[in-house]
Amino acid sequence: MDNTSRNFIENIIDEDLKEGTYEGICTRFPPEPNGFLHIGHAKSILLNYGLAKEYGGKFNMRFDDTNPTKEKEEFARSIIEDIDWLGAKYDKIYYASDYFDQMYEAAVKLIKKGKAYVSELSPDEIRQYRGTLTEPGKEDPYSNRSIEENLMLFEKMKSGQVEDGKMVLRARIDMSSANINMRDPIIYRVAHIAHHRTGDKWCIYPMYDFAHPMEDSIEGVTHSICTLEFEDHRPLYDWVVKETEVEHPPKQIEFAKLYLKDIVTGKRYIKKLVEDGIVDGWDDPRIVSLSGLRRRGFTADAIKRFIELSGVSKSNSVSDYAMLEYCQREDLRMGAPRYMAVKDPIKVIIDNYPEGKIEYFDVINNPENEALGTRKVPFSREIYIDREDFMEVPPKKYFRMFPGNEVRLMQTYFVKCESFIKDDEGRVVEIHCTYDPASRGGNSPDGRKVKGTIHWVNASTAIKALARDYENIIDEEKGVKDEEGNLNLNPNSLVKYENCMIEPAFEGAKAYDRFQFVRHGFYCVDAKESTDDKYVFNRIVSLKSSYKLPKQ
Ligand code: ATP
Ligand code: MG
Repeated sequence: MDNTSRNFIENIIDEDLKEGTYEGICTRFPPEPNGFLHIGHAKSILLNYGLAKEYGGKFNMRFDDTNPTKEKEEFARSIIEDIDWLGAKYDKIYYASDYFDQMYEAAVKLIKKGKAYVSELSPDEIRQYRGTLTEPGKEDPYSNRSIEENLMLFEKMKSGQVEDGKMVLRARIDMSSANINMRDPIIYRVAHIAHHRTGDKWCIYPMYDFAHPMEDSIEGVTHSICTLEFEDHRPLYDWVVKETEVEHPPKQIEFAKLYLKDIVTGKRYIKKLVEDGIVDGWDDPRIVSLSGLRRRGFTADAIKRFIELSGVSKSNSVSDYAMLEYCQREDLRMGAPRYMAVKDPIKVIIDNYPEGKIEYFDVINNPENEALGTRKVPFSREIYIDREDFMEVPPKKYFRMFPGNEVRLMQTYFVKCESFIKDDEGRVVEIHCTYDPASRGGNSPDGRKVKGTIHWVNASTAIKALARDYENIIDEEKGVKDEEGNLNLNPNSLVKYENCMIEPAFEGAKAYDRFQFVRHGFYCVDAKESTDDKYVFNRIVSLKSSYKLPKQ
């Protein structure tokens, strides 16, 4: 962060430290364990963790598990895995549910101060009494109970004598406030549901706006960073902090969410894609959940770089997925070996090459990074090339293989296409070539030029694999949603190459190993479906890009 100008949150922290408002800083990431994390959450995680690191402060990982109706252990596990993967370090995991006692005590304190009361209005009535943006709210008829009565009724709520929805505890603030959040918000409700950590101990649970500032205060969080939609809740946050008289008041700061153009990010829509069976689970490589991105082959470093480039701001904007792809290509450019893979193979027979002979070529694994060394690539009479590198009748400017044309087989020889064979359906199944032994190494023996260079894989040593090419699940021409609010799906978001032929260098590839398939793109070994018998590769990004980094 040193070279870029400081963002507005850093400015606030600088000021707070200078003025002595805080001696050091503590931030937190507070997910609700009710779904999987996505790339937007990565922004929040890296921002909070990055600030703690930058200022030598503390970063807390905290589950905001105050709503037992929607929470699941499975989500909690996956969230931790994602945070660890991103490299955000915390010393322990905090649980909001560990503070239920303190929250309860704080609520009692509010009642004793005359700042909270038990209401018996129904949820509908509470909504009606609350008013609207243009109309003030009406006094709750229960708001003038005595402190003793409130304490007694709150105790009744807590001890299980009240049915769900029959009573709530409300903060007494201001029913005529211009800010609806301040119109006597509910701070506790009755819910006879077991909690996955506290079991049956509680049948009252705190509401988010009361619980969150309490959690922050209890942990000594100094800067409670959240997204813009909570801006209107800040007065309530401050009210809770003030009226519960916490020792070290935290400060809420809002920033703009990360949005990606034409990409489904919202929890709600991802959930729908999963439920409708359009994708295969939350970690489908087409989804920008962190588990999906990881499975697809994205690296934590690329995501970090992307988040860094997207900046921290107070106004909403939309980022480009192409920028994420750019960061990923840059991250893999040096480190990934470049091997040959033929996704849609056609057999090529080199008629004048000796039968039974096999020779090996020393090939550099990554011309941009000598440290990756070289490998031996076998070559013999029968090889595979990609279907798209052959045309029976070539259009203009097609320099790859076609009858009568000479091309360079990458690193080996010049070959000339002499004839080809089709099956009954008219599909080309075999190509016959002759090679020029004098062009060994792919060098012209007499100065004659070939315009096309294509990759290939030796047939007798090829390994058959499955390659999966992914595109946006959304049809970008049409945009995310149609007029009825349905997602515009891209029918080509997944293309499978079942007969992908890969060279022997891939042997032993393990989950998350990443390679460049020469001329095709960067691929990653699928962690879920790849086996020793059949490798499965996911395309992370193609090689092509028209993307340019925005000027800083
Ligand atoms: P929902 O999808 O229902 O909005 P959520 O994403 O807010 O849920 P939480 O578990 O409450 O889920 O989020 C944890 C934190 O991540 C919050 O502080 C939230 O503000 C932040 N966050 C969520 N989405 C984004 C985003 N797109 N960009 C940046 N931060 C985000
Ligand atoms: Mg939320």
